[in-house]
Amino acid sequence: MALRERLNRPLTLTPFTGPVMVPRRIRVLVPTAVLMFSGLGLLWGCGTTGPDFQVRSDPWRSPEERACLASGTVQQTAFVRSRSALGGPNVCGAENPFEMSAADNGRVVLQPAASLRCPMIPQIDRWVKEVVEPAARYQFHQELVGLKVLASYSCRPMNSVEGAMISEHAYANAIDIGGFMLADGSTVSVLRGWNGSPRERAFLRTVHDGSCEYFTTVLSPDYNSLHANHFHLDLAHHGLQGLKHICK
Ligand SMILES: [Zn+2]
Repeated sequence: MALRERLNRPLTLTPFTGPVMVPRRIRVLVPTAVLMFSGLGLLWGCGTTGPDFQVRSDPWRSPEERACLASGTVQQTAFVRSRSALGGPNVCGAENPFEMSAADNGRVVLQPAASLRCPMIPQIDRWVKEVVEPAARYQFHQELVGLKVLASYSCRPMNSVEGAMISEHAYANAIDIGGFMLADGSTVSVLRGWNGSPRERAFLRTVHDGSCEYFTTVLSPDYNSLHANHFHLDLAHHGLQGLKHICK
């Protein structure tokens, strides 16, 4: 199965019938599907059995999403559109997710568009404007025109490992960026550039280090081989106060 298909499989959950435990272990039955975000809607494929994952009670999650929505920080534009709820009444998803197809008022496309919950939208926008675009200008004397999105919403365990904790991707609270597209048509790929030319290395490290101010979890190729080809960015809460940042 192609990676994107694997990462974007949506999700029909069997009801949890065991004793109440935290974390819970959930068997997910998921149809294999390819999410098409180009106005074509969902294309559903044949059914298959998905991985187990463990779910922890996260009381901050729903209030945080609702507060973001109520704040009006995210306005619908040609590049940020409200989409139908993800996941339905189960452990995955978001109540009012958005489809983000570009950042910085359309200057930087997300390819493909990403399904994200409200708090992720302004953070991606600010990170693009304040970190990635200036880094592209400094290192390459180029405008940034796009981000290669390897994954956004996906109902799955961390690293797609059977039995692991549920991933922030399952809450549309994470994005994986595999490359940075420049105005001359070239792309700085995380896979090749992390140990690539001095400019690529410097650009990607500036972008990585800058990410840590905008996201609470940032994982790079230095973290492990599963992240060799992308930066994972999310807004999970870490630590007792939920304020700790993980930057690796
Ligand atoms: Zn990720």
